[in-house]
Amino acid sequence: MSIKAIKPIKADSPETTVSAVAENPASTELIQGIDTSAKPLTTEQLLAIIVSLQQENAKANAALANAILETTKPREVIKTKEQLAREANDKMFLEQAKELQKRQRETKALEQDLCDHIAGSLGETKDVHQRTSIVWHRTDAQVDIGICTTCGRQFHPEDKPDNQGHDYRYWRRKGSFNRISAAGVRQFMDPLKAQHDSYLRDQE
Ligand SMILES: [Zn+2]
Repeated sequence: MSIKAIKPIKADSPETTVSAVAENPASTELIQGIDTSAKPLTTEQLLAIIVSLQQENAKANAALANAILETTKPREVIKTKEQLAREANDKMFLEQAKELQKRQRETKALEQDLCDHIAGSLGETKDVHQRTSIVWHRTDAQVDIGICTTCGRQFHPEDKPDNQGHDYRYWRRKGSFNRISAAGVRQFMDPLKAQHDSYLRDQE
């Protein structure tokens, strides 16, 4: 819309009206809607309009600021049916895997309870000297830890007596079919802690 188009139109000025129509037909309606006979606004009225506009502006700014703040808030994630189904499936799979692991541990523990840890017990004849199938290793903390090559049971000084009534010392004293291996010797600030830490325990 040109400046000319918003000039107040006088009834006796057909030229201006024609010009406005030619430029923009919609502006004609607008211009015709203005009461051109009204008196000019007083300073007080103008000020009142300005104050009112400023108040509107302030409200709009506040609304915008709130809207911006809203965008920074964490939103709740809305999951699709597919995601929910996949999560349920994953959960079920995980539970089954845990159950399987639990049964495997139980089976292994049973095998270890039944094993006599005597060399050759998986073959046709056991060792005539009743030497154990335990492989011993002396750690750098000077702890002898053992593992049975038949059942995989581990031996450590902190062992409780097993279901055969034998403790660590019993198994350690028994002759082994295997030669002990050894790490070097290391000095520790806390030898007892180092001895305790030198053994990998099963995670419950
Ligand atoms: Zn064994």
